[in-house]
Amino acid sequence: MRHLRSPREIDLMRQAGLLVWQAHQSAAKLISPGVTTGEISDAMARVFQDANAEPLFLGYPGPTPFPAVSCISINEEVVHGIPGSRELQEGDIVSIDTGCRIDGWCGDAAITHPVGRVAPEVESLLDTTRGVLALAIKLVGEKSRWSEVAREMQAFVEDAGFSVVEDFVGHAIGREMHEQPQVPNYYSEEWCRRGDFDLRPGTVLAIEPMVNMGNRKVKVMPDQWTQSTVDGRWSAHFEHTVAITHQGPRVLTCAPQDGEA
Ligand code: MG
Repeated sequence: MRHLRSPREIDLMRQAGLLVWQAHQSAAKLISPGVTTGEISDAMARVFQDANAEPLFLGYPGPTPFPAVSCISINEEVVHGIPGSRELQEGDIVSIDTGCRIDGWCGDAAITHPVGRVAPEVESLLDTTRGVLALAIKLVGEKSRWSEVAREMQAFVEDAGFSVVEDFVGHAIGREMHEQPQVPNYYSEEWCRRGDFDLRPGTVLAIEPMVNMGNRKVKVMPDQWTQSTVDGRWSAHFEHTVAITHQGPRVLTCAPQDGEA
């Protein structure tokens, strides 16, 4: 059910991860009031195109095939927003998620950016969501089962006064973007019984907490893709592709490290 990847395979996945990071860099440079979400997605598409990488979101099956290489979700939109003519405004937050496959291996990552200055509570939402991803990455190197990580993630978010989205979860990743097992960001006994897994070296996970300022409930919008909070309060999303190795957790979608081109 779960694939374990060799060190060589994890090195290959790093190439996909680096490209995803580069696409996010090209998006980050554009974040400012007045830019459209379509322009951001187009810039990310060019990064994949120039590298001959396969964008994994474009055409993703759903009610209609997903029409872009990235999901871009603003403010109360949680995930799966469709890029288009909407312009970013000062004070917005914009969640960008993308993935690609190169040489047969996948990478997937998401970042939520503030647009200019945001309200203090919104800043805290971003800090908490970034922080809970960092916590999960640290804990996969220390704990023996995912449920132990998920329990601490949920506590971290709830201690900050926010809530964890349960309708969407992370996933294992490798040859395909979405592989088993699922990787929830919350603890439930029911999930634990049927889905918990150990954190063995060779496991590669896309860990992606989605955190809401209000309650955890989300609903799909009339475009059939965009997921928004039911209460209209804002939501943030951070994701990294992370390999568990004998040397500890290795983030595959981060900036080039020492010794990397
Ligand atoms: Mg993902």
